[in-house]
Amino acid sequence: MKVNPNFLKEVKKYGAFDISKCFNCGNCTAICPLSAQDASFPRKMIRYAQVGAEKEIESSLEPWLCYYCGECSDTCPRQAYPGEFMMTLRRYLIAKYDLTGISAFFYRFPWVQNLLTIGIFAVSLAFFLSYTGDFQELAAKIELAFPVYVTLAIAAYVFTFYRKTILEKAKKFVLSINFSNIKETLIHGLTQKNFAGCSDTDWTRWIAHLFVMSGYTLTLVISNLHLLEPLKVQYSVSEFRTFLVFYAASAIILGGFIMMFRRAAKKVQSSSFSHSSDWLFVIMLFLIGLSTLSAHISNIILGPEDKIVELLYKLNIAVEVAWIIVIVPFTKWIHIFFRPMAVYLRNLKKEEAEGKALAFSLPFIK
Ligand code: SF4
Ligand code: SF4
Repeated sequence: MKVNPNFLKEVKKYGAFDISKCFNCGNCTAICPLSAQDASFPRKMIRYAQVGAEKEIESSLEPWLCYYCGECSDTCPRQAYPGEFMMTLRRYLIAKYDLTGISAFFYRFPWVQNLLTIGIFAVSLAFFLSYTGDFQELAAKIELAFPVYVTLAIAAYVFTFYRKTILEKAKKFVLSINFSNIKETLIHGLTQKNFAGCSDTDWTRWIAHLFVMSGYTLTLVISNLHLLEPLKVQYSVSEFRTFLVFYAASAIILGGFIMMFRRAAKKVQSSSFSHSSDWLFVIMLFLIGLSTLSAHISNIILGPEDKIVELLYKLNIAVEVAWIIVIVPFTKWIHIFFRPMAVYLRNLKKEEAEGKALAFSLPFIK
């Protein structure tokens, strides 16, 4: 096994933990409600990190199967913060799976990411405000570009995740078309079901995630399908589209507010060690919800030709531009896909071991 003696030093750049204090008692793994025989954590990951087994960590699914309930950190006799260590590993892996290297740079220099986000927002807004053409048409083109850009970013991440965890280990292309695996993956993706697996389930956190997930997915659909034209059409309160916007925006605002409040209060383990990128993530989400809702309400009250509606809509698109360019491809946003994907790949590994998965040997995989 190839080891990297500087690995722990490298991972420490991504979060606050101190596993040098760990004396390997195994208490954390024993208490972790989500650790299983075929996916044992967090001690295994701690051990890998201590010996510098970089490749083993990069090909592990375990960091994504941890939902940061914090029970391991609460009971660690050495205050090594194993829960935060698992969170840090997820940041580290996002940076590693990002082929551009930009994510790693942002995690190390979060102020650059913050400044860039503000800068892109300000430049976009200034451009939109000075735009003399049909802004509704320009917004349609921007919203059309979003899914292409996001799909490319997701595809690159998902491929690297698959390559590191399956392809490089199995040396062949392996696939599961087992219906129950696909169903389980979808359920995990839609509900983040594993939150409920923690012994003392943090329902507030689960509800906040569910609100944000559902609201954000709906916002993506509304935006990517360009379902709204607030500068051309006046909407009414009783319309179905208004209902969709109200739910999507309110869910994001409420979920985002709960997340920010918890991070500020630091009352539970999972919210005690916020990285700067965590704050940027929730603040931007909150602003997306707020600007979407205010643009829509002002359209209902004032009509599509009012200057306030135009200003709020331009603000909304400027926030979304900064979000899509800086936040989506380079931060924890990709959690949304990695968590259910880890469930799929864990089951795939089992199927492969039992000879039940589809496997193809490809000439370029050595
Ligand atoms: S409980 Fe703490 S000391 Fe024990 S193995 Fe886990 S991290 Fe190490
Ligand atoms: S934070 Fe919770 S889920 Fe994650 S390793 Fe610790 S006990 Fe397990």
